[in-house]
Amino acid sequence: MSPKNERPPRQPMPEQDPKVRARNFDEVPLGFTAEMAQAEASRCLQCKKPACRKGCPVQVLIPDFIAQVCEGNYAKAAQVLKEKNSLPAVCGRVCPQESQCEDYCVVGKKDEPVGIGRLERFVADWERDVGGVSVPSIPPATGKRVAVVGSGPAGLTVAGDLIREGHAVTIFEALHKPGGVLVYGIPEFRLPKAIVQAEVDYLTSMGVRIETNAVIGRIRTVEELLGDDGFDAVFIGAGAGLPNFLHIPGENLNGVYSANEYLTRSNLMKAYLFPEYDTPILRGRRVAVLGGGNVAMDSARTALRLGAEASIIVYRRGREEMPARVEEVHHAEEEGVELRLLTNPVAIHGDERGWVKGLECVAMELGDPDDSGRRSPRPIPDSNVVLNVDAVVVAIGNSPNPLIPLSTPAIQTTRKGTIVVDETTGATTMKGVYAGGDVVTGAATVILAMGAGRTAADAIHEYVTGPG
Ligand SMILES: Cc1cc2nc3c(=O)[nH]c(=O)nc-3n(C[C@H](O)[C@H](O)[C@H](O)COP(=O)(O)OP(=O)(O)OC[C@H]3O[C@@H](n4cnc5c(N)ncnc54)[C@H](O)[C@@H]3O)c2cc1C
Ligand code: SF4
Repeated sequence: MSPKNERPPRQPMPEQDPKVRARNFDEVPLGFTAEMAQAEASRCLQCKKPACRKGCPVQVLIPDFIAQVCEGNYAKAAQVLKEKNSLPAVCGRVCPQESQCEDYCVVGKKDEPVGIGRLERFVADWERDVGGVSVPSIPPATGKRVAVVGSGPAGLTVAGDLIREGHAVTIFEALHKPGGVLVYGIPEFRLPKAIVQAEVDYLTSMGVRIETNAVIGRIRTVEELLGDDGFDAVFIGAGAGLPNFLHIPGENLNGVYSANEYLTRSNLMKAYLFPEYDTPILRGRRVAVLGGGNVAMDSARTALRLGAEASIIVYRRGREEMPARVEEVHHAEEEGVELRLLTNPVAIHGDERGWVKGLECVAMELGDPDDSGRRSPRPIPDSNVVLNVDAVVVAIGNSPNPLIPLSTPAIQTTRKGTIVVDETTGATTMKGVYAGGDVVTGAATVILAMGAGRTAADAIHEYVTGPG
């Protein structure tokens, strides 16, 4: 432990220059060197009662892995990390550490907190690139079979935890590639797809089977999985991939995308690698992105990289209320994304051929806090303006797809379409069927989906090995 007065400053993350990176899809942060990682690790006080762990939904043994980094034992650090987190290279990149583990870190009371996320990323990358990933030994087969619907972070966590118990696990994924939002939503410049693939490969090397292009509710129902197909339990981690719209005039014009479609075309269908991949996507000259969350930031930054001259975030509340990570807003602004705050879209204008030519908005002011604690915006009369844009991306949230509940009436859902579960186990209202992640909470975070996956995996293990 370093005495306080000798503690080095928090190590800054090396990054691509904003002007250069705004036009390429390479990853923005470049990662720590070993020297930087050790300097950052030396800032940790190795608290006996580590507050940081309280802020981690999967209870990573934070001081223990940091102690190993401090000693230069990176392979051991990776082993400690992976005891609790099966996707450390992903979490080290996309978790909102500033509001989780790092928010609780005692060093942060008087100084900047220990860069836990950056160290997590360093260790996971070191293991993948230098150390070689070791596959844990799997216990003898129990003869029990579990079906996992969806291969996002929730499904991958369940699969990883149950295969380690000796159960046979098959993941059914609707898309042609596994990874969920990690592959189709979060852009390459924030989360390289090779990293997600490496995490998926790790699971398949342990014996997890993955069937892609397999839409449960269409090719098989949940009942059939439990019946004819002989699975002992089913986990539903189908996410929240159904885009919400504003329902304003002009939303069906050419050049209006849901963020989901826009990012899927760019990421999963690799429109960004045109002409190598011939996925059509409108390369708007002036793109408006509606919303203030991570999805909006990702869309606005993608628009710049696809060649837009202007990429404008239109958000009806103020900067303080933006749900996006501070780092994402900062990166977006550095790259040239324009923020139009306290601005509410009311109509999309089209030309005579049905293509977008403008976005009509009204100015807003903030009133009293609403149910979510955020100050609710209200329109200022006669403040309408029309922004000159030729593409609009709607990024105002997603809901769960109703396909599985519709094809399985025994699974109860809420009015918002999320699946009802027992929070302590992830059990749904149908025997042997568990659920977790965005399909239960609505759009949330990677680590919460993983935490829910872990809870459900524990309960499924008990269920399939119990008296029945
Ligand atoms: C653009 C974007 C950026 C984000 N950025 C961040 C971030 O920086 N940090 C963060 O923590 N979180 C972020 N999130 C949120 C995070 O990605 C999600 O909370 C998380 O992925 C939810 O995990 P999940 O496993 O529940 O679902 P998902 O990741 O949505 O995976 C669900 C999977 O189930 C599949 N599926 C759906 N229906 C069926 C079916 N019927 N049969 C078979 N398969 C099916 C889907 O194709 C999908 O692959 C972001 C989300 C988006 C959209
Ligand atoms: S709270 Fe901060 S200083 Fe204490 S163990 Fe956790 S990371 Fe280290």
